Amino acid sequence: MNRLNRLNYSGKERKAKGKLSFLSVITSWVLIQTLLISSPSLADEKNKEENLTYGQLLEKIDQDQVKSIELDQLNYLAKVQLKKQGEKDAPFLVPILADNPELISRARDMNVEFSMDDSTDNAMAARVLVNFLLLFILLFGLVMIIRRSAQVSGQAMSFGKSRARFQMEAKTGVTFDDVAGIEEAKEELQEVVTFLKQPEKFTAIGAKIPKGVLLVGPPGTGKTLLARAIAGEAGVPFFSISGSEFVEMFVGVGASRVRDLFQKAQENAPCLVFIDEIDAVGRQRGVGIGGGNDEREQTLNQLLTEMDGFETNNGIIVIAATNRPDVLDVALLRPGRFDRQVGVDYPDLKGRRHILEVHAKPKKVSTEVSLETIAKRTPGFTGADLANLLNEAAILTARRRKNAITMAEINDAIDRVIAGMEGTPLTDSKGKRLIAYHEVGHAIVGTFTDTHDPVEKVTLIPRGQAKGITWFTPDDEPGLETRGEIISKIACSMGGRAAEEVIFGYDEITIGATQDIQQATRLARLMVTRLGMSELGQLALEDENTSSNPWAGNLPEYSEEIASKIDGQIRTIIMNCYEQAKQIIMENRTLIDRLVDLLIEKETIDGDEFREIVTNYHQKIEKKLAQLSI
Ligand code: ADP
Ligand code: MG
Ligand code: ZN
Repeated sequence: MNRLNRLNYSGKERKAKGKLSFLSVITSWVLIQTLLISSPSLADEKNKEENLTYGQLLEKIDQDQVKSIELDQLNYLAKVQLKKQGEKDAPFLVPILADNPELISRARDMNVEFSMDDSTDNAMAARVLVNFLLLFILLFGLVMIIRRSAQVSGQAMSFGKSRARFQMEAKTGVTFDDVAGIEEAKEELQEVVTFLKQPEKFTAIGAKIPKGVLLVGPPGTGKTLLARAIAGEAGVPFFSISGSEFVEMFVGVGASRVRDLFQKAQENAPCLVFIDEIDAVGRQRGVGIGGGNDEREQTLNQLLTEMDGFETNNGIIVIAATNRPDVLDVALLRPGRFDRQVGVDYPDLKGRRHILEVHAKPKKVSTEVSLETIAKRTPGFTGADLANLLNEAAILTARRRKNAITMAEINDAIDRVIAGMEGTPLTDSKGKRLIAYHEVGHAIVGTFTDTHDPVEKVTLIPRGQAKGITWFTPDDEPGLETRGEIISKIACSMGGRAAEEVIFGYDEITIGATQDIQQATRLARLMVTRLGMSELGQLALEDENTSSNPWAGNLPEYSEEIASKIDGQIRTIIMNCYEQAKQIIMENRTLIDRLVDLLIEKETIDGDEFREIVTNYHQKIEKKLAQLSI
């Protein structure tokens, strides 16, 4: 699609250039013209007072005052050099007639040097020639422009036809083995494979096979891959097009592309037609800001017509993908169209491990690498993220001149994919100490709120936007999160700012906590408005589409009074969590000081070391307490 778009662009560019050169031709022509016209007139002006009349010239010849005469018959001028003139003086210009027998005979009588000037003749000829040439260039330019624009409009007329905007693969070469972690979806679609392979099995008993399947899921979860695998498993051609390709500047182009696509598909049946990003065409008609979009509506109507048009048994299956099924026109989801929806969700732990297996297979991976551990560290990663992760690790391995990918490269790659590029370490300063306290604050608060995930590592090496990072190992398999867990997450987020305030004082707190505060507020708002986890009760006050921006989503439907209550609840949650975090920091001040010293020295403390220091410290305290109580 990119390639074709680029072609389109360069076409427009060329047109613009054509206009440009046309303009420059005109200007240069005008310029040259004025130059050519103005130069003789300038010469005329200069010689004005020195001119002779024809009669005077004849007189001068008779008086033998004339040295030479040069006739310029094109301009009807005689250039007259008088005897009293110096060699370098400009000649007198005398207007003459077309025929000058008298002048010539008199000059001959008086033995005046006489010549015809053919150089002016040449100049004149050259001038005429240049003008003709320019005129020709101009005309040529005009013709080219007219021809080009004719071509462009011709293209517009045949856009949908001649330009195959869809791709066709006779064999995708992808099988179900290449798709991992989305087993339910694979199972559901197995049926489609069977239908494409042996439609008679179904038609014999009068079963209707769905014509359209809608794959619903976030980007990168393997929807395209899955569709290609279906075609690959069934051994049928794979037609693909992106919904955005349908939507063109010209009304009707999209519809003609749909016709074209289905015509090609008919010719190649049985086959699979894949429409990516179907929400680009399939949005509900005539709604939203600005009303309907004619072009999109026509395209959508055409798509619906085509889908209704082919019989259940002619072997075309249409698979469409989207991550916004909620915006789709209901007509698309009616029986006989995309009546079957298959969810393709983020892979779970097991799924991630399987996906990693698939992508690790063609790579050289050291035997010490545990895919299980990687899968544990990467909740929320999609298949595409995991593929990217292993690729990053492979690149790092090559850069470090190792033979096989080891855990070190993979961990670095994970950090990089999640948090961005590693920056240069900070130099020792008060700023670095503050960041160290901030990070240890997160780690300690996370550790002492017992429902929180364990610390993976604390580091002062900057990455992306962050100057320091505290990583937590996510739950093995996150089940349903509890209120306590969310609260401890909020407290842990506030841990950084709490440490800043407790250790350095209120005036010294920094903007480093911006992200933390944002995250905490988001969680708290979620608790109040959607999760029913506040004093306001079990109410869904907002949903994912609610927004205070009328252009972006639905306006919230509660009253001003409720709105201020929501704000109050959010405030209460955050304040309580912040107090809790400050409490934990104050109670563990000595431990925090020790951890900060170590962190500044080592830049990174990993989880095991961190926990060891924490438990040692607590054992010591307990011992002391025991001694005291004796
Ligand atoms: P989507 O179409 O859902 O946005 P893609 O199918 O384009 O995602 O996935 C992009 C790439 O990510 C694939 O080519 C593949 O390498 C990898 N990938 C994604 N999901 C999976 C999966 N479930 N199993 C294996 N690889 C996957
Ligand atoms: Mg895709
Ligand atoms: Zn922080």
